[in-house]
Amino acid sequence: MAVLGNPKNTIEILQKYQFNFQKKFGQNFLIDNHVLNKIMKASDMTKEDVVLEIGPGIGTLTQYLAEAAKKVIAVEIDGSLLPVLEETLQNYDNVKVIHGDILQMNLNKLIEEENAGRPVKVVANLPYYITTPIIMSLLEGHIPVKSATVMVQKEVAERMRAKPGTKDYGALSLAIQYYTEPYIAANVPPNCFLPRPRVGSAVICLRLHENPPVSVENEDLLFKIIRASFNQRRKTLINGLCNAANLTFTREQIREALRELSLPEEVRGERLSLEQFSQFSNILSNKLL
Ligand code: SAM
Repeated sequence: MAVLGNPKNTIEILQKYQFNFQKKFGQNFLIDNHVLNKIMKASDMTKEDVVLEIGPGIGTLTQYLAEAAKKVIAVEIDGSLLPVLEETLQNYDNVKVIHGDILQMNLNKLIEEENAGRPVKVVANLPYYITTPIIMSLLEGHIPVKSATVMVQKEVAERMRAKPGTKDYGALSLAIQYYTEPYIAANVPPNCFLPRPRVGSAVICLRLHENPPVSVENEDLLFKIIRASFNQRRKTLINGLCNAANLTFTREQIREALRELSLPEEVRGERLSLEQFSQFSNILSNKLL
């Protein structure tokens, strides 16, 4: 079987199976071997690693993963790609393709079965329509994952690693940085995919913290506060929190918490670091007692 990752072999296999791209599944296949090599380098793959690939498509990245890793578990939603994958991955006995929707799968159970519950590496050229739900379900679900090296929309990658006070900073930046250390490994232009997406892309590597970088008494409250403070971006933190239906703090309690942190009353959420949000949430959490 020819190695994929270039336009010629990709078009050949797509024509052989008369494959029709499905927009609803975010199908943009990689056709550039330089980009594939960059993904592999960023993932730091070894023969000890078990990989979860989300959306193998025609198996391009899967071939690279199968060469470098101990085992690859690839979950693909589009049934019409299964015969293609059977052909493109026929030389590898360390790949298991599962037909299913990644968002509906019990990943803890899957990793228990495939890697005795030990952490896996996630590597994927993600379908852009569900990038955030996929990543957040891995992180919030505390799925055993060492790192996630993923292709996402460039703008989403920028939001993930943004720092306080910048235009890209928001609830996604805080959630990603609470669970992981993000770094952008490559920027990828549209011509590296077939068909070409309308936006630029980036490979971002998210390395999971062994312990969260801040100490938080009530994780659920922390994220409710973060979401409420970015829901209405131009509002002050106090107004954002007072308007949140799922938070019951009084204006005075919020004011007191800000005073304890020496933050001005009119401060906006976008100014607070993860450390400050966690201290703020710990102070408010004590007021719930
Ligand atoms: N990995 C291939 C590559 O790099 O060429 C394909 C990447 S393409 C951007 C995204 C893939 O994810 C498609 O094959 C698509 O069918 C699959 N996909 C979309 N939604 C999915 C879901 N909910 N669960 C599993 N796979 C999904």
